[in-house]
Amino acid sequence: MKLVRFQVDGRESQGVLSGNEVRELEGDFFGQLDVVKRSYAIDSIKLLAPCIPTKIVAVGLNYRDHALELGFPIPENPIIFLKPPTSIIGPGDTIVVPAMSKRVDYEAELGVVIKDRVRNVSARQASGHILGYTCANDVTARDLQKQDGQWTRAKSFDTFCPVGPWIETDLDPRDLLVEAYLNNGRKQSSRTSQFIFPIDHVVSFISRIMTLNPGDLVITGTPSGIGPMEPGDEIEVRIEGVGSLKNIVSAD
Ligand code: MG
Repeated sequence: MKLVRFQVDGRESQGVLSGNEVRELEGDFFGQLDVVKRSYAIDSIKLLAPCIPTKIVAVGLNYRDHALELGFPIPENPIIFLKPPTSIIGPGDTIVVPAMSKRVDYEAELGVVIKDRVRNVSARQASGHILGYTCANDVTARDLQKQDGQWTRAKSFDTFCPVGPWIETDLDPRDLLVEAYLNNGRKQSSRTSQFIFPIDHVVSFISRIMTLNPGDLVITGTPSGIGPMEPGDEIEVRIEGVGSLKNIVSAD
């Protein structure tokens, strides 16, 4: 099932996408999914970022091929950091390059949306707390990341977390193709089977540090091939079994 958040007639709502039709839900993703108010053609609505997280938890180095390519040792535990909810934008929205940075990079990542309150779960229990999967772009001011040591500034500008276009709920995430296309040229390509830390391990690890809430977003690291974007570029994250997330880049 594809879960969408969307805007229609100046209000925001949630629905289920099937074919080109969005069936509006009476409530939200976290309640009864089968109660439908009315339907819209997908062309007649604007899709929004599919989740409203209280926090975005990101994994640093998580692709074996990327770690080997960089010559980095394989980490013992996931390296995690936070991005603020204010960095989220939806499909088709604009990534704004801040005046403060000279180099802003794309990072194609599989996003995991949390279903309910999760605290202190084992890896085996973790998958029962996942609502579904989406495409994400962990946009990063690479120069500021190097300058600061700490990553907060580099990862947190408004518009630095494109997410969407929907949440796919019926998907085995263990071996999916994850790609980035810059102006239709392929820049990143790997599979989630290359993860150093599988998703259930990552969710369990995070849940032993902080409580995860419904709608929280975990982004699972990026493959090799990261690179800069310039104003006017189109960046696309494509994930097998999920879909395609496109955004345009503009200057501040
Ligand atoms: Mg990243």
